[in-house]
Amino acid sequence: MVCDLGYVFDLLIRWYERFGRRNLPWRTTRNPWHTLVALVMLRRTTSRQVAKVYEKFIEKYPTPESVLSSSEDEVREVIRPLGMENRRSRLIIEMCRVIVEKFGGKIPCSLEDLLQIPCIGPYTALEILCSACGVDVMGMDTNVMRILCRITGSEPPKQSEILRKSLEISRYIPKGRCRDLIYALTDFGALICRARNPRCNECILRHCCEYYARKFQSS
Ligand code: SF4
Repeated sequence: MVCDLGYVFDLLIRWYERFGRRNLPWRTTRNPWHTLVALVMLRRTTSRQVAKVYEKFIEKYPTPESVLSSSEDEVREVIRPLGMENRRSRLIIEMCRVIVEKFGGKIPCSLEDLLQIPCIGPYTALEILCSACGVDVMGMDTNVMRILCRITGSEPPKQSEILRKSLEISRYIPKGRCRDLIYALTDFGALICRARNPRCNECILRHCCEYYARKFQSS
């Protein structure tokens, strides 16, 4: 790898401060429930679609308990604009049931506890720890993996290795900046280091990037 990962993260955060979508409502909250709602909604769904539903949902359901006191039909109706509303409403209700029964209605701030909640895998658990609990850790979803693999010139980790690898790279997060870094990687992956046709010539990381070196400087 050409550059230190801490330096790469620092550049990404600075890029986010100038070009990122910092005003999305779920990026300004520290409420763990609101963060969890947004993460569940954002799966396979665009920010634009989620923005139409997120605020209405948390206003109607300010706590996991409030979801359980509603009917599945009502929950389904609120999230209908997101699509997959049958599956999503069942998952949200099941998730709330476990949060209320096992954790007294509070979203726990421990990796082990978070992984006991349906719908929460390692990536979501790490993102909640970061976004809502103030712990400097980050998960690796396909977007993060694509960007980091291109920069470092490495292969994506195997499924069984992702959690270990996530905790390993978390050591390089600038102190107290994991939220900004996660949002930076999300936006950078959508706007610059896109899955197809990455915009390498406009990229602030090209001097650090193995993919760029191989593709554009090999001759
Ligand atoms: S130079 Fe290209 S491949 Fe490398 S990080 Fe930037 S956009 Fe991604």
